[in-house]
Formats: sequence, C-alpha cells, structure tokens
Amino acid sequence: MNPRALLERYDISPKKSLGQNFLHDPNALEKIVESADLMPGDTVLEIGPGTGALTEVLARFAARVITVEIDRRLEPILRERLEPYAHVEVVFGDILETDVAALVGPDPYVVVANVPYYITSAIIRHLLESEHRPQRLVLTVQLEVASRLVARPGDMSLLAVSAQYYGKPRIVTRLSAGVFWPRPDVDSAVVRIDVYDRPPVDVPDDETFFRVVRAGFSQKRKQLKNALADGLHLSAEATVHWMQAAGIDPRRRAETLTLEEWAALARHYAAHFANPPAAT
Ligand code: SAM
Repeated sequence: MNPRALLERYDISPKKSLGQNFLHDPNALEKIVESADLMPGDTVLEIGPGTGALTEVLARFAARVITVEIDRRLEPILRERLEPYAHVEVVFGDILETDVAALVGPDPYVVVANVPYYITSAIIRHLLESEHRPQRLVLTVQLEVASRLVARPGDMSLLAVSAQYYGKPRIVTRLSAGVFWPRPDVDSAVVRIDVYDRPPVDVPDDETFFRVVRAGFSQKRKQLKNALADGLHLSAEATVHWMQAAGIDPRRRAETLTLEEWAALARHYAAHFANPPAAT
C-alpha cells in the first residue's frame, strides 16, 4: 500500500521536522536493495523505517533486519506490516543516541537506509566512527550530499575526508523528488560506501588525524595555516614550520588537500608536538 493511503488510514500526517519523505516507487526500493548486494545470511541495520516499505523488501533478502525509528506514532503501521517477518526487530529510539555495536552484536552487518535529511552527516559520522563499523552502507541522501561524499581535492569537506578515510563512496543512481511522498524540494541519490578494514593512508591514530582535519576545516575560506593555528592553539611560526615539514604549502586551503596530504600533516603533527595540545 502506498505511504499516503497507509498514513491516512492511521490518521497520521508526515512530520517535516523528522525528514519524513516516504518512498513509494517500487523500482526505487528494489534498486536500493539490489545495490546492497545482500547475501541470505546477512544482518541489516536500517535507519528510519517510516511505514516499512524498504524494511519489507530488506526482510526478503536478509537473515536479520534491525530497524530504528524515532517516531512512535508509526508503531501500529510497522507492527502490522512487519508482523509476518519474525527476523525483523523494530526498535524505537534516536539512532544518534543508539549504541550500534550493542544493538547489532558482534556479527558483520550492512546499513541500508533512506535517511532523514536533517541529520544525514551526523548519521554517517555516527556509523563510521562507531566501535563496530558496518561492512558497507547504502544510503539515500540529498543529491548535494551525495556529490559532497564523492568530492575530489578542490571540493573536499570534512564530510568527504571522513567518508573517504573510512571507505570508498560512489553514487549508485539518482532519484527524482517524485518518487517520494511528500515530495521533497530536492532530488536525491543512492550512495554506497564500502568500508575499509583499515584506513587507506598512514596516520598516527584516528583521533590525531581528525583533530587536524577538523581544525583545518574550522574556518571557511581561510588559508590553512590560519585555520590550523587557531583550531589547534599553535603559534603562526610553529604552524608554518610544521606544515613545511609535512610538505604542505601553508597558503593552501583545506578543500584542496588529498587524503594523503592530511595524513602527512597528522604524522608530522604527532612528531612535532609530542604532547599535542588538546583542541577545544
Ligand atoms: N524508510 C522509509 C521510506 O523509505 O519510505 C522512511 C524514510 S524517511 C526519509 C526517514 C525516516 O527516519 C522517518 O520515518 C523518520 O521518522 C525517521 N527518523 C528521523 N529522525 C530519526 C532518528 N534520529 N532516529 C531514527 N529514525 C529517525
């Protein structure tokens, strides 16, 4: 049943504040699930089942589906629709407050979700930085976010560096706004991120790497030396010295650096500042 009719039957109106744009196109649902390459034994974590349309397709392909929904109003719809699938667990709560490792357990898992757009970046970070990372993520996101995830040096952002440090993102397909109800203002895309076993660059540790990257992106349109000095509470002189040792021109801007260049900065940061001052 299409989401509009289903919600009307239960007298529920979609909440824009929760990013509730429901997929009603069977081809789009199938394309999303197909691009996850699920095997019969797989565990899937879904975020925001809504009326359960994607969940139901996932249930046909996976051994276990765990789905986390924040909106309790949808409980009767989800209970009724997913009742035939004993291997689907519906959990009510905020994904950003959920300990994914504890919820999923030790088995490998795949994330498939049509994510609420107001917290897309936060969800991606939450999953990629979790103690137990997924093997891959297949996410329906705004087209603009999809382009940012696969950006190349020249257009990099904190989100791009983070996604490309943890995995290999690619755009699978574009979805027009018309496949959702209510229709969002923007087009969307399905993105797949294959998560690496270990980062593709040599860094002292994740924390040092991201401390440097976050500082670098903390001040838009500034030269990197200023953003890094301010963000890490270093003198201008020490910052220039450090950047030159890492082979990075201090006048560069954060969006132009490659992953390897960020890694070189992080390595030299750790070497130059044996006890690096904690960034605030
Ligand atoms: N999966 C459904 C579909 O494809 O039609 C619904 C997708 S809708 C874009 C996003 C869903 O995420 C909504 O059901 C919304 O209530 C839920 N949601 C919003 N914020 C959430 C959060 N912080 N944690 C879990 N679910 C959330």
